[in-house]
Amino acid sequence: MAPTLRWQSSTGRNTISEIVKKLLPEWTSGLRPVQEELVSDILDSDDVLCCTATGDGKSCAFYIPILVLSEYNTNRAEYPSGLPTRPNPRILCVPSPEYNEETIRLIDEDPELQIILATIAFANGINASSLLASVTVGSSGSSDTTYQEKGRVCRKAGARGRGVLLVSKSSIAQALKFLKTLPSTSSPQPKKKGVGKLTSSELMTCEKAELITEAHCYNAFWNRLYQNPPLETSTLDCITTNRPLPCELCRVRTNKTLLFPAPDSAPNFPPLTPLTAPKPPARVPKKLKLTRKERESGEKKLKRFRDVLGVTEQRMGRFLEHPRIMFLPYPFVRLF
Ligand SMILES: [Zn+2]
Repeated sequence: MAPTLRWQSSTGRNTISEIVKKLLPEWTSGLRPVQEELVSDILDSDDVLCCTATGDGKSCAFYIPILVLSEYNTNRAEYPSGLPTRPNPRILCVPSPEYNEETIRLIDEDPELQIILATIAFANGINASSLLASVTVGSSGSSDTTYQEKGRVCRKAGARGRGVLLVSKSSIAQALKFLKTLPSTSSPQPKKKGVGKLTSSELMTCEKAELITEAHCYNAFWNRLYQNPPLETSTLDCITTNRPLPCELCRVRTNKTLLFPAPDSAPNFPPLTPLTAPKPPARVPKKLKLTRKERESGEKKLKRFRDVLGVTEQRMGRFLEHPRIMFLPYPFVRLF
């Protein structure tokens, strides 16, 4: 049946809100106005371009329409007919949703898990509200990625969090050298306008170099880069604007001490006990050293054990998406 209604109509929007209320009762206020607009446009197959601040809830633009369609298709009688739909909407998550959920549950509930070593995937949309600090070692591919990484933490209103970027002296020297080769412009340039005749990849490098070498105020840097209004005040430093949480550059200038107490909602875990570095292995007497043949044979057996373990787990329906190597990672099957 051809659709007779639009999701953007009041009937369509009410249906979305009913479905969200049913499927996500924990979202007591339902969708935010910007989310409602995005979701209804996407359900009507309109193309959308959305640019909002980190934490505004952009991610819901790709999963709420799927949930809405899935519910609408399954329980058709409960909702007005005539809204556009398509069969079998799918959510594809890599890694598996169970894996992500389990990781986030452990972050919240396991006292031994207070630090996560994350890959770049973590910088793109994972929402774990108990994370309070993001430390990046080395600069990311672009300033956008860095901003995303910092936006993963301190996602509860009122909580105080930190975004730390550790950059080597040689990277700073490299960035300074790079900036000297550019046509003179007031830095940083707003993203939309670009810098002279630079290509897009050079522009990324330019932004990154400016971030690494920023010497006055990081908050003003981000606001200039993303042109966050009102520019008259957003591009001033934290001291002039009296920001309650100044950036590190401004904090050093004012000699203030900043405290980052855990929010009341934080799990009350005791601090982790410092780890002692393992002692270097004692010199193995020559007669106890594995021969090449023994090493190869041992590694072969360990790999076979890994495969059996993987097959057994997967036959039981567990860890189906995991590659075989994850059942016994490489360092454990390598003998010396
Ligand atoms: Zn500042």
